[in-house]
Amino acid sequence: MLGTAGGPTPKAGRSAPAQAVVVGDRIYLVDCGDGVARQLALAQLPIRELRAIFITHQHSDHNAGYGPLWLLGWTAGLSTVDAYGPPPLERMTRLLFEAYAFDIETRIADEGRAPLAPLVRPHEITEGGEIFKDDRVKVTAAVNRHPPIAHSFAYRFDTADRSIVISGDTNYSEAVIALAKGADVLVHEALYRPYFERPDAPQAPSVRQHIVASHTDVEDIGRVAAAAGVKQLVLSHFVPSDPPDAVSDEQWLAGVKKHYSGRVVLGRDLMEVA
Ligand SMILES: [Zn+2]
Ligand SMILES: [Zn+2]
Repeated sequence: MLGTAGGPTPKAGRSAPAQAVVVGDRIYLVDCGDGVARQLALAQLPIRELRAIFITHQHSDHNAGYGPLWLLGWTAGLSTVDAYGPPPLERMTRLLFEAYAFDIETRIADEGRAPLAPLVRPHEITEGGEIFKDDRVKVTAAVNRHPPIAHSFAYRFDTADRSIVISGDTNYSEAVIALAKGADVLVHEALYRPYFERPDAPQAPSVRQHIVASHTDVEDIGRVAAAAGVKQLVLSHFVPSDPPDAVSDEQWLAGVKKHYSGRVVLGRDLMEVA
């Protein structure tokens, strides 16, 4: 768990959304929240072992670290990386290269570095199904429910010994339940709806409406985990997660446990889920 906050506002207590799925010595990254390159360093996951990136959707809390990840990882021995995600991933990649051209060209000329552009290979996805396979892992995508974004995905990783599903940002989703059937681990985003429904909630009504319509309340997360029959549930992308004590651990857990009796873990930055 590289970053467990939800929403674009920088937070003191949690980093922006990102998860590393580590299979042997290979790293597969889900989402690129701001600071993901440093979170990898803090987790002691060498960037040269990064094989592929999977972006769930193009909200800034999930992609602001995408360009910096490979720009900064370049000098740390980045090898060829395939990046999967919804449009406009290809255009974003091209324009980021344009924005970073000065540094890239300087380092190629001055430090003799190999060109960066061939190392980053974007692939846009617009529907669910199997999207990636190598000798370590098969990745399957499902369209979740994150209005108004049509191309928003959950991802399932099947390896020789584990299956891990990451919900992405979503409201209660039958597609996520189907994707997560029997998985060892479900990492699910988390909304504590009562926090936004209290009379003195500071958010503008339009923001509050977006939050409630596009995220999953804790009670529904329990229903999702139970219906999918997952062995372990990990909460992440906490909304709210600022201030850190806005919702207590007991409150997060109580809602989930109404419907799910399996193991529940409250995600923290740099936590390793076994
Ligand atoms: Zn988000
Ligand atoms: Zn989002």
